[in-house]
Parts: sequence; structure tokens; C-alpha cells
Amino acid sequence: TIPLLEANDLRVTLRNGTEIVRGVSFTAAAGKVLGIVGESGSGKSITMRAVMGLSPPGSVISGSIRLYGEELVRAPERRMRALRGSKIGLIFQDPMTALNPVITVGKLIAEAVRLHNPGTSASKARQRAVELLELVSVPQPEVRANQYVHEFSGGMRQRAMIAMAVANNPDVLIADEPTTALDVTVQAQILDVLKGLQDRFSMGLVLITHDLGVVAGAADDVIVMYAGKIMESGSVRDIFYRTRHPYTRGLLSCLPTIAGEQSRLEPIPGSPPLLSARPKGCPFHPRCSMARDACRADEPVLRRVDNVLTACHFAEELRAGDSPRMNAEA
Ligand code: SF4
Ligand code: MG
Repeated sequence: TIPLLEANDLRVTLRNGTEIVRGVSFTAAAGKVLGIVGESGSGKSITMRAVMGLSPPGSVISGSIRLYGEELVRAPERRMRALRGSKIGLIFQDPMTALNPVITVGKLIAEAVRLHNPGTSASKARQRAVELLELVSVPQPEVRANQYVHEFSGGMRQRAMIAMAVANNPDVLIADEPTTALDVTVQAQILDVLKGLQDRFSMGLVLITHDLGVVAGAADDVIVMYAGKIMESGSVRDIFYRTRHPYTRGLLSCLPTIAGEQSRLEPIPGSPPLLSARPKGCPFHPRCSMARDACRADEPVLRRVDNVLTACHFAEELRAGDSPRMNAEA
């Protein structure tokens, strides 16, 4: 069967020559959730923006992005516009800046419906908007449809954004930090809404986040990105319990344990490199407690070690017992 969304050796190079996405490959399957995790500046958003044909002006994209087999790299902008919002739904971090403040939420959603179905009458589109608000569990959708964005709380705004994103039954939904601006309780509700829709309509969901905790409960597969590359990928279980990468292990150490105790929190020292000033060798070496000469000399390639793909010269030295999650939950 043809995969829903497949990227192969995707590269994005800025006009100034800086390569900011460096050979990323992944598959997003129908009915599955793919989590893309990394600190800010890891290239995760840029990767998904390239998928949507929204790369920075003047940048060069190479490699392949296929949606049900259709090549999107070098697809005309007119084709990408038609796909965005119909086959590919998009949700961004900050609904406040993404939603027009001067028209009602019902009208905003109705416009999203009519954008790809211009024949829909105003009353049909409005009816569909109310249905969509109900679908994302906005209480009193009839009343809420007549309100403006500023009358919605952060969580309700994000629901409205999701309603717009799924208005035309996309095959794949790309959510970039959809819960980052929200408090923890609301985050969980929004993830439930996304998971519920993904399940019900058998969509592919790509969940971009800096927070491994977000993917823990929601994703099937995880990609960990750093400095524009994939550091490790695998199933959620394998990434959480059998990671073979010091960077993933570092991210896991930053998570509170299931019991909620905060004492284990050990943030990774330092910060990610600028994509324009990457260190030679493994891009993680300045922050890695396992780094040695080979790490400073040669950049590791992604390879299979047991159940995961990992880009670390010394992956074999990380044992299952080294996983902070394993220790925390044993
Ligand atoms: Fe650390 Fe070296 Fe592995 Fe990079 S290759 S993650 S520096 S041990
Ligand atoms: Mg981002």
C-alpha cells in the first residue's frame, strides 16, 4: 500500500547556504500518530513547513515528499494551496495570532469550509461550522459560533483552530506545538480532542513538540531531531524504554516521573547549536557526557541498533537499564 505521507532524504537549504534540514526521512501512516520531538531550533517545524510547501522564500528543497505517492517537492504553489486545508490540515501553536479577530468564530470556520468547497451555501457552511465546534467538544456550539476569538479562552481557541483544520476532512493533520501555550490541564484536553479525531477519522497525525511528555501518551512512533537531523527514531515504547541515544536519554531525564516527583529532573547542560554554526562531528558532542575524540571527528549516521534507528557512534554502550524511564518506573 502507498504510505499516506512519506519524506525521503529531505533537505532544506536557506538562500545564504545554511542547510537547516539535513536528510530527514519519515513515514506518517493513516490512523497513526507520529511525534516529532526536539528542542527549539532542532529543525522540526521547518521540516514540516517544507512538507506543506511553506519554506522560507529563496530556500532550496531537495529529496522527496510524497502524499499518497504524489511528489510535493517542486509541486506548483497552486497545487500546494489546494492541498493545504483540504488533504493536509494545519494547527499552529498560537491560535490568537492565527485567527482573524474581527469575524465570529462560526464565520471563520464557515470560511475554511467554503475555501475548498466554494459551492457550499452560507447557511450550509454555518451549519457545518456548528457541527465542527461540537465535534471538538466546544460546549453550546450554537452560542459559541456567534462569539469572537477574544471571547474564547486559550483552550477554546485551540479547539476552534482544530475545527478549522479538520473542516475538509484532511487525510493528515500536522500540529506544531498545539498545546505549548496552554496550561497542563487544558493541554491534556486538547491532546484528547486531537487523538479522538485522529482515531475517529483514521487520519494520520503528526505532532510536533519540544516535550517528550506530550508524545508519551499520544504517539505511536517518535522521531527525535537535533541540529536539523534525526538523532533517533522508533516506537514510543522503544524510545522511552530502550533508547540508544544520549540526547534522547537527556530529554527523558528532563521529564518528571509518572509519580510526579520532580527530584530527578536533570536538564541537558548547554543549548543546541545554531544551525549556521554546527560543530564538526556529532552535533551533540559539546553537550554529551559520553563524547570522545571520534565524536568530534566524524558525524554519526543513522543506523539500526536493536529496535531503534540511532545516530550515535557508541549506541551499543547504552543499555536498556540506562533509560531514565526504566529506572523511574522499575
Ligand atoms: Fe554523544 Fe558521541 Fe554519541 Fe554524539 S556520537 S551522541 S557525542 S557519544
Ligand atoms: Mg517550532
